[in-house]
Amino acid sequence: MSKRNAYLTIDDSPSPRMDDMVDGLAQRNVPAVFFCRGDRLDQHFDSAVRAIKKGYVLANHSYSHPRSSTVTFDAFTAEIKRTQDIIDRAYQAAGVSGDPKLFRFPHMDRGMGGWIIDYDAVPDSQRDLIIRMFADGLNVKLDPPDQAARDKCSALQGWLKKEGFVTPAFNGVTFPWYVGTEMAQAIDAMFTYSTSDWMLTARHKGKWPWKTIDDLKAKMDQDAWLQQTDSAHIILAHDQEEIYDETMALIDHGLATGLQFQPMGPRGLKP
Ligand SMILES: [Zn+2]
Repeated sequence: MSKRNAYLTIDDSPSPRMDDMVDGLAQRNVPAVFFCRGDRLDQHFDSAVRAIKKGYVLANHSYSHPRSSTVTFDAFTAEIKRTQDIIDRAYQAAGVSGDPKLFRFPHMDRGMGGWIIDYDAVPDSQRDLIIRMFADGLNVKLDPPDQAARDKCSALQGWLKKEGFVTPAFNGVTFPWYVGTEMAQAIDAMFTYSTSDWMLTARHKGKWPWKTIDDLKAKMDQDAWLQQTDSAHIILAHDQEEIYDETMALIDHGLATGLQFQPMGPRGLKP
């Protein structure tokens, strides 16, 4: 078993199972950042407050989970603001302050659709792997974005910075494709390994290369990057009611195979 440092990031919170997830993670001594949708915060506000009180970090994942390349800049930034207002209220209600302002794009659409990072900037030998990672194993056809999309992507980064969002302090990630592209410097929160737990939702089950929980455990065991011990890992999982058991089973599998989940650096700042 190879011990590896990792950070756990949970998207699409809060679900009706968020309380269970927080308790389950706390029992296992696993810190995490929950990227929350504003519409779900409106439904499960108390769970959000409870998670903050238990020491978990709540972060912004837009209001209604749109793809940023398909809505206007103004509409998209309004979603982030609306959600941040709710998150700020939750922190106030919990009596906690000092956590960093973090953001993750829904669907990892950072303004350029499937062109999540500048694939042309990734070394040839790693490009297919990176595209596969973000596309979760499918051979997607990707066309480089036009100038308008590139401009929107950088305008969104500038806006996030101006609003006080910070690059999360997921320290110790050393992969060349992470530190050598804009991933490490981006204001929004990127990841280095997806559990692909969402593939087990009713809507997706059976339609993707990994069809069972055992398939997804095997994917973890076989992932060349995830197995590396000289880099930290940023793990993506989901807070979704219908796959709660599966997501927790994947986190347990990570723990059993040597992942050691760490808290972010203080206030999200890099040392
Ligand atoms: Zn999401």
